[in-house]
Amino acid sequence: MSGNQPSAVSYRLFSDYHTHPQGHRVQPYTLALLQPWADSARVRGLADIAFTDHDRYHKGIDFDELDRLREKNPDLRIRAGIELDNDPVHSAAGREWIEKHWDRLDFVLGSVHFLDRADQMFDSVPNGAAQFEGRDVDTIYLDYFRRVRDIAASGIVDCLAHIDLVKIHGHRPRAEIGSIVNETLDFVRTRNLAIELSTAGWRKPVNELYPSDRIIELSIEKGIPFTIASDAHSHAQLAENFPRLAQKMATFGVRNVCTFEKHQRVVHPVCPGPLL
Ligand SMILES: [Zn+2]
Ligand SMILES: [Zn+2]
Repeated sequence: MSGNQPSAVSYRLFSDYHTHPQGHRVQPYTLALLQPWADSARVRGLADIAFTDHDRYHKGIDFDELDRLREKNPDLRIRAGIELDNDPVHSAAGREWIEKHWDRLDFVLGSVHFLDRADQMFDSVPNGAAQFEGRDVDTIYLDYFRRVRDIAASGIVDCLAHIDLVKIHGHRPRAEIGSIVNETLDFVRTRNLAIELSTAGWRKPVNELYPSDRIIELSIEKGIPFTIASDAHSHAQLAENFPRLAQKMATFGVRNVCTFEKHQRVVHPVCPGPLL
Protein backbone atom coordinates (compact mmCIF):
# COMPACT_ATOMS: atom_id res chain seq x y z
CA MET A 1 0.00 0.00 0.00
CA SER A 2 1.32 3.43 -0.82
CA GLY A 3 1.41 5.80 2.11
CA ASN A 4 0.43 8.58 -0.23
CA GLN A 5 -3.06 7.23 -0.88
CA PRO A 6 -5.78 9.15 0.90
CA SER A 7 -7.23 7.27 3.83
CA ALA A 8 -10.70 7.46 5.33
CA VAL A 9 -9.36 7.77 8.87
CA SER A 10 -6.39 9.73 10.03
CA TYR A 11 -5.05 11.32 13.16
CA ARG A 12 -3.98 14.72 14.24
CA LEU A 13 -0.43 14.26 15.54
CA PHE A 14 0.79 16.77 18.08
CA SER A 15 4.26 15.72 19.25
CA ASP A 16 7.75 15.27 17.79
CA TYR A 17 10.25 13.54 20.10
CA HIS A 18 13.46 13.43 18.10
CA THR A 19 15.01 16.72 16.96
CA HIS A 20 18.51 18.15 16.59
CA PRO A 21 18.64 21.94 17.03
CA GLN A 22 22.45 21.82 17.01
CA GLY A 23 22.64 19.71 13.86
CA HIS A 24 26.02 18.03 13.64
CA ARG A 25 28.25 20.33 15.67
CA VAL A 26 28.22 22.14 19.00
CA GLN A 27 26.00 25.22 18.72
CA PRO A 28 25.21 26.50 22.21
CA TYR A 29 21.49 26.79 22.97
CA THR A 30 20.28 30.38 22.63
CA LEU A 31 16.87 31.83 21.95
CA ALA A 32 18.12 32.70 18.45
CA LEU A 33 18.89 29.03 17.80
CA LEU A 34 15.76 27.58 19.40
CA GLN A 35 12.91 30.03 18.73
CA PRO A 36 12.63 29.02 15.04
CA TRP A 37 11.95 25.46 16.23
CA ALA A 38 9.13 26.68 18.46
CA ASP A 39 7.72 28.75 15.59
CA SER A 40 7.94 25.80 13.25
CA ALA A 41 6.24 23.51 15.80
CA ARG A 42 3.33 25.93 16.09
CA VAL A 43 2.91 26.24 12.32
CA ARG A 44 2.79 22.44 12.01
CA GLY A 45 0.20 22.04 14.74
CA LEU A 46 2.58 20.49 17.29
CA ALA A 47 2.03 21.13 20.98
CA ASP A 48 4.80 19.02 22.53
CA ILE A 49 8.38 18.72 21.26
CA ALA A 50 11.58 17.25 22.64
CA PHE A 51 15.05 18.51 21.74
CA THR A 52 17.32 15.46 21.55
CA ASP A 53 20.75 16.53 20.37
CA HIS A 54 23.48 13.91 20.08
CA ASP A 55 25.26 13.25 23.37
CA ARG A 56 28.62 14.25 21.83
CA TYR A 57 27.27 17.82 21.59
CA HIS A 58 26.05 17.93 25.21
CA LYS A 59 28.22 20.98 25.85
CA GLY A 60 25.79 23.05 23.78
CA ILE A 61 22.73 22.13 25.87
CA ASP A 62 21.69 24.87 28.30
CA PHE A 63 18.77 24.17 30.61
CA ASP A 64 18.37 27.83 31.61
CA GLU A 65 18.05 28.80 27.97
CA LEU A 66 15.36 26.13 27.60
CA ASP A 67 13.51 27.66 30.55
CA ARG A 68 13.62 31.05 28.80
CA LEU A 69 12.27 29.45 25.63
CA ARG A 70 9.42 27.87 27.65
CA GLU A 71 8.57 31.26 29.19
CA LYS A 72 8.37 32.84 25.74
CA ASN A 73 6.26 30.00 24.35
CA PRO A 74 3.79 29.05 27.07
CA ASP A 75 1.48 27.37 24.55
CA LEU A 76 4.08 24.66 23.81
CA ARG A 77 5.49 21.84 25.89
CA ILE A 78 9.24 21.92 25.30
CA ARG A 79 11.17 18.94 26.64
CA ALA A 80 14.84 18.73 27.45
CA GLY A 81 16.20 15.58 25.90
CA ILE A 82 19.29 13.97 24.45
CA GLU A 83 20.14 11.10 22.09
CA LEU A 84 22.67 8.76 23.69
CA ASP A 85 24.37 6.38 21.29
CA ASN A 86 27.13 3.79 21.36
CA ASP A 87 29.94 6.07 20.16
CA PRO A 88 33.10 4.29 21.32
CA VAL A 89 34.89 7.63 21.71
CA HIS A 90 32.33 10.04 23.17
CA SER A 91 29.51 8.10 24.78
CA ALA A 92 31.20 7.48 28.11
CA ALA A 93 31.31 11.24 28.67
CA GLY A 94 27.74 11.49 27.35
CA ARG A 95 26.51 8.90 29.86
CA GLU A 96 28.23 10.71 32.69
CA TRP A 97 26.64 14.01 31.63
CA ILE A 98 23.18 12.39 31.47
CA GLU A 99 23.55 10.91 34.94
CA LYS A 100 24.65 14.27 36.30
CA HIS A 101 21.73 16.13 34.69
CA TRP A 102 19.10 13.39 34.94
CA ASP A 103 16.72 15.52 36.99
CA ARG A 104 16.69 18.36 34.50
CA LEU A 105 16.20 16.05 31.52
CA ASP A 106 12.72 14.98 30.48
CA PHE A 107 13.67 12.37 27.94
CA VAL A 108 16.63 10.23 26.84
CA LEU A 109 16.72 8.43 23.50
CA GLY A 110 18.98 5.42 23.05
CA SER A 111 20.52 4.71 19.64
CA VAL A 112 23.01 2.49 17.87
CA HIS A 113 25.00 4.40 15.24
CA PHE A 114 28.26 2.44 15.43
CA LEU A 115 29.15 -1.11 14.39
CA ASP A 116 32.78 -2.21 14.07
CA ARG A 117 34.24 1.12 12.99
CA ALA A 118 34.85 3.59 15.78
CA ASP A 119 35.45 6.50 13.40
CA GLN A 120 32.28 6.43 11.28
CA MET A 121 28.56 6.16 12.00
CA PHE A 122 27.26 3.32 9.82
CA ASP A 123 24.21 5.44 9.05
CA SER A 124 26.23 8.15 7.28
CA VAL A 125 24.74 8.53 3.82
CA PRO A 126 26.24 7.46 1.51
CA ASN A 127 29.65 6.64 3.03
CA GLY A 128 28.42 4.34 5.82
CA ALA A 129 27.15 1.85 3.23
CA ALA A 130 30.80 0.81 2.67
CA GLN A 131 30.70 -0.86 6.09
CA PHE A 132 28.33 -3.47 4.61
CA GLU A 133 30.41 -4.22 1.50
CA GLY A 134 31.64 -7.80 1.32
CA ARG A 135 30.14 -8.57 4.72
CA ASP A 136 27.50 -11.09 5.67
CA VAL A 137 24.36 -9.00 6.18
CA ASP A 138 22.79 -11.49 8.60
CA THR A 139 25.85 -11.26 10.85
CA ILE A 140 25.65 -7.47 10.78
CA TYR A 141 21.95 -7.59 11.74
CA LEU A 142 22.66 -9.92 14.67
CA ASP A 143 25.49 -7.67 15.83
CA TYR A 144 23.32 -4.56 15.44
CA PHE A 145 20.42 -5.94 17.51
CA ARG A 146 22.86 -7.13 20.18
CA ARG A 147 24.04 -3.53 20.45
CA VAL A 148 20.43 -2.32 20.63
CA ARG A 149 19.90 -4.59 23.63
CA ASP A 150 23.05 -3.19 25.24
CA ILE A 151 21.81 0.39 24.98
CA ALA A 152 18.35 -0.70 26.21
CA ALA A 153 20.07 -2.27 29.22
CA SER A 154 21.98 0.93 30.04
CA GLY A 155 19.30 1.97 32.51
CA ILE A 156 19.45 5.61 31.41
CA VAL A 157 17.24 5.66 28.32
CA ASP A 158 13.48 6.17 28.12
CA CYS A 159 12.95 5.23 24.50
CA LEU A 160 14.85 3.60 21.64
CA ALA A 161 15.29 5.63 18.46
CA HIS A 162 15.00 4.16 14.93
CA ILE A 163 15.19 0.59 16.26
CA ASP A 164 15.87 -0.97 12.84
CA LEU A 165 18.31 1.67 11.58
CA VAL A 166 20.54 -1.15 10.28
CA LYS A 167 18.32 -1.27 7.17
CA ILE A 168 19.15 2.35 6.25
CA HIS A 169 21.14 1.63 3.07
CA GLY A 170 18.66 -1.01 1.91
CA HIS A 171 20.53 -4.15 3.04
CA ARG A 172 18.11 -6.89 4.01
CA PRO A 173 18.88 -10.05 5.96
CA ARG A 174 18.86 -13.27 3.96
CA ALA A 175 17.88 -15.56 6.80
CA GLU A 176 14.89 -15.29 9.08
CA ILE A 177 15.99 -12.88 11.77
CA GLY A 178 12.58 -12.77 13.41
CA SER A 179 13.79 -14.43 16.57
CA ILE A 180 16.51 -11.87 17.31
CA VAL A 181 14.05 -9.04 16.65
CA ASN A 182 11.46 -10.77 18.82
CA GLU A 183 13.95 -11.25 21.66
CA THR A 184 15.05 -7.63 21.38
CA LEU A 185 11.46 -6.41 21.60
CA ASP A 186 10.77 -8.70 24.58
CA PHE A 187 13.77 -7.12 26.26
CA VAL A 188 12.49 -3.61 25.44
CA ARG A 189 9.16 -4.54 27.02
CA THR A 190 10.85 -5.96 30.11
CA ARG A 191 12.79 -2.72 30.54
CA ASN A 192 9.52 -0.79 30.12
CA LEU A 193 10.92 1.35 27.30
CA ALA A 194 9.12 3.05 24.44
CA ILE A 195 10.23 2.90 20.82
CA GLU A 196 9.75 5.59 18.20
CA LEU A 197 7.92 5.67 14.92
CA SER A 198 10.34 7.76 12.88
CA THR A 199 9.61 9.30 9.52
CA ALA A 200 13.36 9.79 8.94
CA GLY A 201 13.49 6.39 7.21
CA TRP A 202 11.40 7.82 4.40
CA ARG A 203 14.14 10.29 3.46
CA LYS A 204 16.92 7.67 3.52
CA PRO A 205 17.95 5.19 0.79
CA VAL A 206 15.78 2.43 2.33
CA ASN A 207 12.70 4.70 1.94
CA GLU A 208 10.78 2.96 4.71
CA LEU A 209 9.48 4.07 8.09
CA TYR A 210 11.53 3.10 11.16
CA PRO A 211 10.55 0.54 12.23
CA SER A 212 9.24 -1.94 9.65
CA ASP A 213 5.62 -3.02 9.51
CA ARG A 214 6.50 -6.37 11.14
CA ILE A 215 8.23 -4.68 14.08
CA ILE A 216 5.24 -2.36 14.51
CA GLU A 217 2.92 -5.40 14.63
CA LEU A 218 5.11 -7.23 17.15
CA SER A 219 5.43 -4.11 19.31
CA ILE A 220 1.65 -3.68 19.38
CA GLU A 221 1.23 -7.34 20.40
CA LYS A 222 3.74 -6.91 23.21
CA GLY A 223 2.25 -3.63 24.41
CA ILE A 224 5.34 -1.52 23.68
CA PRO A 225 4.36 2.16 23.57
CA PHE A 226 5.36 4.51 20.74
CA THR A 227 6.65 8.04 20.50
CA ILE A 228 6.47 9.76 17.13
CA ALA A 229 9.44 11.51 15.60
CA SER A 230 10.99 13.15 12.56
CA ASP A 231 14.68 13.15 13.61
CA ALA A 232 14.73 16.71 12.23
CA HIS A 233 18.17 18.26 11.79
CA SER A 234 16.59 21.55 10.72
CA HIS A 235 13.44 23.25 12.02
CA ALA A 236 12.09 22.92 8.48
CA GLN A 237 12.08 19.13 8.93
CA LEU A 238 9.99 19.17 12.10
CA ALA A 239 6.99 16.82 11.77
CA GLU A 240 8.15 15.87 8.28
CA ASN A 241 5.79 13.37 6.62
CA PHE A 242 3.49 13.29 9.66
CA PRO A 243 0.33 13.08 7.51
CA ARG A 244 1.80 9.93 5.97
CA LEU A 245 2.72 8.63 9.43
CA ALA A 246 -0.83 9.30 10.64
CA GLN A 247 -2.17 7.16 7.80
CA LYS A 248 0.24 4.37 8.68
CA MET A 249 -0.82 4.51 12.33
CA ALA A 250 -4.48 4.36 11.33
CA THR A 251 -3.75 1.32 9.16
CA PHE A 252 -2.13 -0.51 12.08
CA GLY A 253 -4.63 0.69 14.67
CA VAL A 254 -2.00 2.56 16.70
CA ARG A 255 -4.25 4.82 18.74
CA ASN A 256 -1.89 6.08 21.42
CA VAL A 257 1.22 8.22 21.40
CA CYS A 258 3.38 8.79 24.42
CA THR A 259 5.20 11.85 25.67
CA PHE A 260 7.62 12.28 28.56
CA GLU A 261 8.00 14.74 31.40
CA LYS A 262 10.96 14.20 33.72
CA HIS A 263 11.19 10.64 32.35
CA GLN A 264 7.56 9.92 33.29
CA ARG A 265 5.68 8.50 30.35
CA VAL A 266 2.26 9.90 29.58
CA VAL A 267 0.04 8.04 27.12
CA HIS A 268 -2.29 10.12 24.96
CA PRO A 269 -5.04 8.81 22.75
CA VAL A 270 -4.66 10.34 19.31
CA CYS A 271 -7.71 12.13 17.98
CA PRO A 272 -9.09 11.61 14.53
CA GLY A 273 -8.55 14.77 12.58
CA PRO A 274 -7.66 16.30 9.28
CA LEU A 275 -4.21 15.83 7.79
CA LEU A 276 -1.84 18.67 8.55
ZN1 LIG B 1 20.06 8.61 15.54
ZN1 LIG C 1 18.87 11.69 15.82
